[in-house]
Amino acid sequence: MTLMEEPRVQDPPKYVKRILFGILPPDKIRKMSKVEVTSPETYDEDGYPIEGGVMDTRMGVIDPGLRCRTCGQPAGRCPGHFGHIELARPVLHPRYAERIKDVLRATCPECGRVKLPEDEIESYLREVREGIRPVKSVAAEVIDRAEKRESCPHCGAESRKITYQKPTTIMMDDERLWPVDIRAWLEKIPDEDVEILGFHPERARPEWAVLTVLPVPPVTMRPSIILETGERAEDDLTHKLVDIVRVNLRLKESLEAGAPEPIIEDQWDLLQYHVTTYIDNEIGGVPVARHRTGGKPLKGIVQRLKGKEGRFRQNLAGKRVNFSARSVITPDPELDPFTLGVPEAIAKELTVPERVTEWNIDRLRKLVLNGPNKHPGANYVVKRDGSRIRITDENKEKLAEDLEPGDVVERHLMDGDPVMFNRQPTLHIQSELGFRVRVMPGKTFRLPAACYMGVGFNADFDGDEMNLHVPQSEEARAEVRELMGCYVYHLWPPKNGHEDVRNSPIHEAIVGIHLLSRAWIPLREAYQLLEEVKKEGDWFEPTEVKLKPEAKYRRGFEEEIHELEFVCGQPREGEPLVTGRQLLSVFLPDWLDRVELENAVCPDDEEHGKVVIEKGRIVRGFLDEKTVHGIMTEIVHRYAAREVARGESYPWFKAAETTLRAMDKIGRLGLRFVTRYGFTLGIDEFEDIYERFRDEVERLCDEAAKKAKEIIERGERRLQELEEHETCNRSRIERGEMLERNIESEVMAILNQPRVETERLLKKHRDLFNPAYIMPESGARGSITNIARMALIGGQQAVMGERPHRAKHNTEHIMEKIVNYSYTDRVTPHFEKSLIPGVKEGGFVRSGFFEGLDMVEYFLHAMSGREGLIDKGFRTADSGYLHRRYVTTALDLIVDSGGRVRDSANNVIQLTYGEDGVDPAKKWGLNLDVEKALKVVKEVVLEEERRVRGGAG
Ligand SMILES: [Mg+2]
Ligand SMILES: [Zn+2]
Ligand SMILES: [Zn+2]
Repeated sequence: MTLMEEPRVQDPPKYVKRILFGILPPDKIRKMSKVEVTSPETYDEDGYPIEGGVMDTRMGVIDPGLRCRTCGQPAGRCPGHFGHIELARPVLHPRYAERIKDVLRATCPECGRVKLPEDEIESYLREVREGIRPVKSVAAEVIDRAEKRESCPHCGAESRKITYQKPTTIMMDDERLWPVDIRAWLEKIPDEDVEILGFHPERARPEWAVLTVLPVPPVTMRPSIILETGERAEDDLTHKLVDIVRVNLRLKESLEAGAPEPIIEDQWDLLQYHVTTYIDNEIGGVPVARHRTGGKPLKGIVQRLKGKEGRFRQNLAGKRVNFSARSVITPDPELDPFTLGVPEAIAKELTVPERVTEWNIDRLRKLVLNGPNKHPGANYVVKRDGSRIRITDENKEKLAEDLEPGDVVERHLMDGDPVMFNRQPTLHIQSELGFRVRVMPGKTFRLPAACYMGVGFNADFDGDEMNLHVPQSEEARAEVRELMGCYVYHLWPPKNGHEDVRNSPIHEAIVGIHLLSRAWIPLREAYQLLEEVKKEGDWFEPTEVKLKPEAKYRRGFEEEIHELEFVCGQPREGEPLVTGRQLLSVFLPDWLDRVELENAVCPDDEEHGKVVIEKGRIVRGFLDEKTVHGIMTEIVHRYAAREVARGESYPWFKAAETTLRAMDKIGRLGLRFVTRYGFTLGIDEFEDIYERFRDEVERLCDEAAKKAKEIIERGERRLQELEEHETCNRSRIERGEMLERNIESEVMAILNQPRVETERLLKKHRDLFNPAYIMPESGARGSITNIARMALIGGQQAVMGERPHRAKHNTEHIMEKIVNYSYTDRVTPHFEKSLIPGVKEGGFVRSGFFEGLDMVEYFLHAMSGREGLIDKGFRTADSGYLHRRYVTTALDLIVDSGGRVRDSANNVIQLTYGEDGVDPAKKWGLNLDVEKALKVVKEVVLEEERRVRGGAG
């Protein structure tokens, strides 16, 4: 409980300088109370709050028709006032019970002094008062030392044995110490002694933790709600207060009637129970108080405050944000880069304030006329006098007519509006990017996926949700558009300057690009593909694409437009054919000259292993993820270099934008192609591979298994010898363990070989007509390891880096010893007992998924699979907490106009942002070449010297 003064409504607002916490003393509780609650009733038959009941109108009102009897104000204006309950017998505050026990143990039952000599008490007191040591550590030491004393050094009284039973029972020797006695004891402790026990004589005397009066919180803090049926449902705290008042009343009656002691003690305990669960309903050793209907646990005061959904984290530290929306994300390959598909329902709810001028008045009138229900419409008009009028079907004509410059129209979100889009955990700058709106039907946010922009968000589409924020001022809109929506952030990770391009096409787009770079296509279809890609492209405007009968195609890259001559190959069925490479070249600039890149899909192939680009034309080579990535990096760097040559000081915005657009076109072309011609991967593909390599893999497995078996057998023999010839001592155990470790690592290495060899084999005989190769080798998705596992061999499984195994037989480890009693020396009952697990027993899976795993293989494979799941769970939990820590420390930091980082109190946190003032995402040029720089400086100095000397002479 906090020390609270009666809130006075008419007081002017004040700044909070500091907050002191303490325990409310009984007289203060009575002083701040406006009513003593004596009746467990809530309302009379007419629904009016009972006087002296828990809803007494002197504690405030929540009904619109009523007025507070304390401050005279109606519901909504009355802040609420405290009441109190006079407890018939004192009870312990459950959250202080354990502290009270410590205090009792450290003090004398007779004189109440701390059981330490006078001089020691004085010395501790000085430490506390002069702030030499934290009070907490002094108190801990005092209690620790005093509770060990057999007798009191002040009066000589003998110490008593104090025991504590959770949550609120304290015994002295074998007798129950009732709160009345505890309170009397605590009252005896002098102020000085209280201080060294960690309490404060004015703000928190220990006896105040034994409650004699219970404050009743204002009605406004526990309002009842009216259900649809017209019934009243009371707040959990009210329910609990009713219980307390009822039991308290009964106890009072029993005391007055002079009831026998056991009955009184029962009722007293019941009162203690209700007060305990009222304060904290999740306390150990006490049954949880539940709702009479439904049986849901009631929320105590502690439950209101504690945890993620408590008052602190949910309502005080966390804020709900206006002009934001959240929904599931889905991909849309047709969407332009930087564009975000926003559901119409969301666009109608989120508004942008637009000031009326003589230039936009006609447009805004139309929006007002459309009203709140028709999409490009508006929800509010704010007149110049500040009045805010909701647009309805009834008033929209009038509002539109009366619209004049200076008014503000809160219009719906529309195509092209800049917005912020965010996914949690927000770990880096690319987790929150600027986008342009595209209003669409449906209920999900659509992310442009041709050059997949989910990469920086770390999003996928298995149900991920993301948040949208709409900037409200012209300045904020400009900032989102120019800085957050900055192409640089869309293209690069912020760490490496501009060395490495990110967000290149992935998945099916890469498969499409790869296949296209290998294909001959009928000219007519090539035109169609280009047309399909062209459709959405507003940026492509300078190039007018027309279907022409001749084998020519206009290509363009920004302002440079050239005719592209398709070189047609041998006609098929009378139709001229062009290469896919020529198609892809449509989107490459002419100045992209003499580029040579080695691909990963077939690096050893003489003809296709190298991608060669001359004057913007891909002349040979198979494209894959690596080369597309390489081409994009080339474009962005060369473009930037050209911009610099033109005198541009910061070329990266433009370079990044252009590159992203080219990337989008190429990615979409790939998508279109793969959609049209199809690409599947099924079990047949694995059958092919299986048939082809089965015998060889079998041989590899046999060989490795034989080798491993020999090592295991030899190891077994040596372990046996060790056990027989040496006495059981530490060194023998250590030698045994060492030997075992060596054998294990040798066996692991040998049994890993077959899978590694299989992969090498698969790579060596790669078949680029098999989709099972195309997918991983083009860099679209997956790896050769996946293929090997599916088609041929599971390989050696590992749990925590070791072969799956049972307890070690000669272990010192307690847990393993326990396991040893029940079951030892083999992994499952299907094997013979042995000191070292055999090949199969140790998780060597020689079957692949195509063939199917046998029972043992499946089980051991699942063991290592489970480890992966657990690891992943821990990793995400860790990064989630990292996010929380990062956000709470950085959330109110800003960079001011002078480049300094400041907190919300305007304190300077850093003199220069990031200590060097550099935003790595916008830094350009690569790392400094010190040798080269020195040489340049040297030359300049020499030149200067020569000039000076020449001038003098
Ligand atoms: Mg997901
Ligand atoms: Zn009031
Ligand atoms: Zn004493």
